[in-house]
Amino acid sequence: MKTRVLVLTTSLAAVLTALAVTCPAQPAVPAVAAPPSITLGAPAPADAVVLFDGTDLSKWVRGDGSPAAWKVAEGAMTAGGGDILSKDAFKDAYVHLEWMEPDMPEAQGQGRGNSGVTLQGRYEIQVLDSYGIDVPGKGDCGAVYGQYAALVNACRPPLEWQTYDIIFRAPRFDAEGKMTENARITCLQNGIVIQNNVQVTGLNYPPMDADPSTPGPLVLQDHGNPVQYRNIWFVPLPEKGSEEYQGRRP
Ligand code: MG
Repeated sequence: MKTRVLVLTTSLAAVLTALAVTCPAQPAVPAVAAPPSITLGAPAPADAVVLFDGTDLSKWVRGDGSPAAWKVAEGAMTAGGGDILSKDAFKDAYVHLEWMEPDMPEAQGQGRGNSGVTLQGRYEIQVLDSYGIDVPGKGDCGAVYGQYAALVNACRPPLEWQTYDIIFRAPRFDAEGKMTENARITCLQNGIVIQNNVQVTGLNYPPMDADPSTPGPLVLQDHGNPVQYRNIWFVPLPEKGSEEYQGRRP
C-alpha cells in the first residue's frame, strides 16, 4: 500500500511537471515590435479604387468641398490643413493604406502622432504613436476610437511605414430604413489582427450626414501632427454572395 501511494504521488508530480513544461504562462502583450507588414507596398488590385498613388490629391477634398491642402512629397502626403475626405464613397469595402508616425519624443498620449482613419466618415480607427505601450486602450493606435481597443499592440516604431488592412461591413437596414445590423470592422495592422469583426455601435466622429445607410468617404484626420500616408485604395465588396449554387467543379 505504501509503495502504491508513493507511485501515485510520483506520477502526479510527473504530470504536473509535464504540464508546467507544455503550458507556460503567456505574456499579455508581445514583448517586441511587430514584424514589418506583409502587405507593405501591396499593389492595388485591378478592381480597386485608387485614392492615392503618391502623385497628387486629386481624389480628395476638404470638409467644405474645397481642394485638399495636405503636402505631397516623395510619394507620400503629410497631414496639415484640415481633415480630408475621399471623393469616392463606399459601403462594404476592403481598405488598404499605409502610414508613418513622426518622431515626437517629447509628446505624450493623444498629442503623439495623432491622426485617424474614418470609415464612411463615421467610424474612426485611431492612428497614433502607441509604440511600446504594453496594454493599448480605447484611444490608442488601432482602437475603434472610444469603443474597442486593439487586441494587441501591433505598432512599429515612429519613422517606419505601417499598414492597415481593413474589412468594413456597412450597417444593414430593413425596407423601412430601420437599422437591423450594426457596421462591423475587422482590421489588420502590419499583418496582425487587431480588430476581429467588432460591431461598431455608434457614430463617434462628426458624421458626413445623418443617414448611415448611405455610402461614405474615407476620411483622414489632421490632428495637428505631421503623420504621413501613402498607397491608399479600396476594393468595393458585394453585400452578399450569389444565391446560385454552382456545384463542385471537376
Ligand atoms: Mg485620432
